[in-house]
Amino acid sequence: MKRTDIGSGKSRIAQASAPASPPKTARRGNATKAKPGAPELPPRLAASTPPLDPGAFRRRLAAWYKRHARPLPWRATNDPYRIWVSEIMLQQTRVAAVVDHYNQFLRRFPSLIALALAPEADVLAAWSGLGYYRRARMLHKAAQFIVLERDGRLPTTAAQLRTLPGIGEYTAAAIASIAFAESIAVVDGNVERVILRLTGRAQVTSDADIAPNSPNLRAFIRAQAQALLPVTLNQALTAARIPSLRRGRTTGVWDASERIAIAASAHPTALAGGYDENTEDGAASRPAIPTPNAAGDHNQAMMELGATVCLPRAPLCLQCPVYTLCRTRGEHPTAPRAPQLSRPIAYLLDLRKRGAATEVLLERRPGDATLMPAMYELPPLPLDAVAGREPVLRVRHAITNTNYYVQVFAPRPAGPRSEALALRRAIPANAHHLHWVRTSRLSTIPLTGLARKVLHRLKVMDNPSLALLE
Ligand code: SF4
Repeated sequence: MKRTDIGSGKSRIAQASAPASPPKTARRGNATKAKPGAPELPPRLAASTPPLDPGAFRRRLAAWYKRHARPLPWRATNDPYRIWVSEIMLQQTRVAAVVDHYNQFLRRFPSLIALALAPEADVLAAWSGLGYYRRARMLHKAAQFIVLERDGRLPTTAAQLRTLPGIGEYTAAAIASIAFAESIAVVDGNVERVILRLTGRAQVTSDADIAPNSPNLRAFIRAQAQALLPVTLNQALTAARIPSLRRGRTTGVWDASERIAIAASAHPTALAGGYDENTEDGAASRPAIPTPNAAGDHNQAMMELGATVCLPRAPLCLQCPVYTLCRTRGEHPTAPRAPQLSRPIAYLLDLRKRGAATEVLLERRPGDATLMPAMYELPPLPLDAVAGREPVLRVRHAITNTNYYVQVFAPRPAGPRSEALALRRAIPANAHHLHWVRTSRLSTIPLTGLARKVLHRLKVMDNPSLALLE
């Protein structure tokens, strides 16, 4: 599963159409929307334009990222566990939604072993509101596996990371490069879009549409992303025919700083593109000593560019650090999104007093349910059971391509007891799936995101006045 961040969504490259020339719908970035007097974008690069210069691209991207990277909490740590947690949370979830959950989750499970030792229900409770709960279950399983089978040490390469539950190709590359400096490109929806536009391959469309002898588009994107990665120190040393640092430590021929200096002078462009560059001018390649994690920084910069500048709609080309290198400079053709489905749905909010405590009736979903197994939600009601009633809350809740139009019904506080009983009897679930839960405990149980949203909106959850009564 890939990151989505701002507007990247699912990869849609396999859906795009295949016009022979730039289509009318491919607007040229924000140039047409720029304020009067704003500079015009240069024309699109001609097909004969020389291939992209990876060094120039890296330097501009790196300098831009240094100045414009958002200060996100997972960028302030080198702790592989924290980076791993962030990458799992960022799958299919926007950055803005992740930040608070990330901080709360790590306060609750500050280490890999704390996560491994926790009951699954606690992990799901801490995940509540992020959705896609399978991620939390897999993260928990992987933490237990690492503690039991790997002495608590996270694997350090993408290939090894992929053997863990819940870690696919994208996530493995992200963790390996960001936490362990492996020179492996991360390709998420943002990176795909940047590369398609940058290279002008946006006009090439679905895998099925590619001519038989053309390279597969996904392979093309992956190869491009890898080619843009900064050269690692050991790659540069190899290019300069200098023994690697690891071998050097055992032979003791040169120390690290001597190797770096020799490599830089023997192969002056090999290290260009590290994060010691301070210019965005794309001047001639120059030797630069990469930071210990140039690959991780580069990958994050690529994703940041796609998330904040090279947007799916109306990319901000006039603010783009690499627009003079870009062959598209604007949107690229994509297939229309699948239409959103609409579905009305009703829930019951039933509260009762037990001594000083307030309790709310919740339904536990079956353990073998396809979606959100074993999680708690407000009891669903059949729509015909509430026909003609006025809900206490209306809210829209989107899950993938479905908009749920949610109505929440509650017995009137001063209404007859028969009203509450009638609503309760309308619940289709078996009684053993229904539980009265103290409102003060709601933050400790695995609630569905929708239940959490409704209970917050109706001030049942985290309501100090209810808590004071207990
Ligand atoms: Fe525009 Fe830059 Fe994206 Fe090219 S890479 S389309 S110039 S934002």
